[in-house]
Amino acid sequence: MRRILRPPYNAEGQRRLPGDLVAILKVAKLGSPILRKRASEIEAQDLRKGRFRTFFEDMMETMVEYHGTGLAAPQVSTGLRVVLYEVHGEKRGKDVLEVPPTLLVNPTFEVLDGTEEEDFEACLSVPFLAAKVPRPRKIRVTALDTSGKAVSFVADDFHARVVLHESDHLDGVVYLDRVRDRASIRYTVDF
Ligand SMILES: [Zn+2]
Repeated sequence: MRRILRPPYNAEGQRRLPGDLVAILKVAKLGSPILRKRASEIEAQDLRKGRFRTFFEDMMETMVEYHGTGLAAPQVSTGLRVVLYEVHGEKRGKDVLEVPPTLLVNPTFEVLDGTEEEDFEACLSVPFLAAKVPRPRKIRVTALDTSGKAVSFVADDFHARVVLHESDHLDGVVYLDRVRDRASIRYTVDF
């Protein structure tokens, strides 16, 4: 049985009581106003105090439950600049890309290689659909980690795609907005 509880934080970052169970959060679907709003930054000092720890655990459990590659806080109706993602077994030539579960707060990025690559994306907030989306090939990502420490790294190809897809959610953008080849929009299930 799934435990579907209300999100633990509202748009103002109001927290719920400590000691609550980790929860599977309800995922907002396309049409929910929260998916079209700009999310708010989190202060590093609030991270250092561990203020969002339970919420981060809830996001993790929710992403795993729904087999997501990534999840942004607005997708669980929380207007904060938080993204979570992981990459498993993504083939890159002879290599396989593995990125452990990574949570980024207030992520920003700089394009290092603007060569656009098109590939299919899907989204937990846009169920049953996928489409080709152009994204820059290589970016530098700057963010805070869960403890409030600044992090910076280079991401390319699928890794860059995931970070950019999730970061878009923080600005009220969904991948369908970026589709150029509309004929590529397709169902991922057979009815
Ligand atoms: Zn998405």
